Amino acid sequence: MTDLRVRIAPSPTGAVHLGLCRTALFNWAYAKKRGGKFILRIEDTDRTRSTEESERAIVEGLRWLGVQWDEGPDVGGPHAPYRQSERAEGHGKQAVSLLGSGHAYRCFCTPERLAEVREAQEAAKETPRYDGHCRGMDGAESQRRADAGEPFAIRFLIPEGSTTIHDLVRGEVTFDHKEIDDWIMARRDGTPTYNFVVVSDDVAMEISHVFRGEEHLVNTPKQLLLYQAMGYEPPRFAHLPLMLGKDRKKLSKRSGDTSLGDYIANGYPKAAIVNFLCLQGWALDGETEVFDVDTFVEHFDIENVQKAGAVFDIDKFRWLSADT
Ligand code: GLU
Ligand code: ZN
Repeated sequence: MTDLRVRIAPSPTGAVHLGLCRTALFNWAYAKKRGGKFILRIEDTDRTRSTEESERAIVEGLRWLGVQWDEGPDVGGPHAPYRQSERAEGHGKQAVSLLGSGHAYRCFCTPERLAEVREAQEAAKETPRYDGHCRGMDGAESQRRADAGEPFAIRFLIPEGSTTIHDLVRGEVTFDHKEIDDWIMARRDGTPTYNFVVVSDDVAMEISHVFRGEEHLVNTPKQLLLYQAMGYEPPRFAHLPLMLGKDRKKLSKRSGDTSLGDYIANGYPKAAIVNFLCLQGWALDGETEVFDVDTFVEHFDIENVQKAGAVFDIDKFRWLSADT
């Protein structure tokens, strides 16, 4: 049996969202109960949006919640997190090898050309998508243009067919490949994109289970096809339900505070915040609403996470004191 290894991979681009805290708690509890490893990997590939301040807030926020990761690039002391940007060499090698095996191809289309295609599709009331212009380009021509210094993006070639995800929360979800574009793995400026590097890093870190927010479900078929193309066994996936605000809409700034820092600053005790987060898509027995984090770890199982979004009013828990 492979070792159980889970991770969270937050992008350090803003305040620490409660959704990240919930995902962290679920991953951490799952690993802790089963003797697995919980990993923090900062997805800072988008250098323009990533800030050190946000990374620090994530590290401090997780420590405040008591969610400690088990590995890091350092030795001794509390671990520093892994950083995606430190793994660029591995990403480059993988892109080259996918080009070589024909699972990916160079796209020389200029932003102007792509905009024209999109406008024409929109005018024809079609869903905008890449028109496959560079898909069938002869390998020698592609190489020659690259050697001549022409800028190109790298696209993943989506084969015909469909992909079925066996999601631990949602069951089987099938995506027709007609719905999926030949997506960009690396942009014209050479920077890799999320779907590519997340797979590359999850493979390198031998991640066995990926539990993340439902908004990533649409990315999963792209990632599964990439695992296949690279010849790796994919992890098990589970997509956690949306967190809903009191208005039953997706938790957003409009429906109330969304960042951990806001709740801490407003005096919510840790016990209340953790209790509230544990109930975002999971229930202990359907009745008991107040429990501590040890009880959560003992009883949590990913298969008992609900599909539907959960509305929980954090104010119900506000009275819990830090030592409840
Ligand atoms: N950086 C992504 C996010 O923060 C990671 C998603 C994932 O877990 O794959 O949403
Ligand atoms: Zn193209």
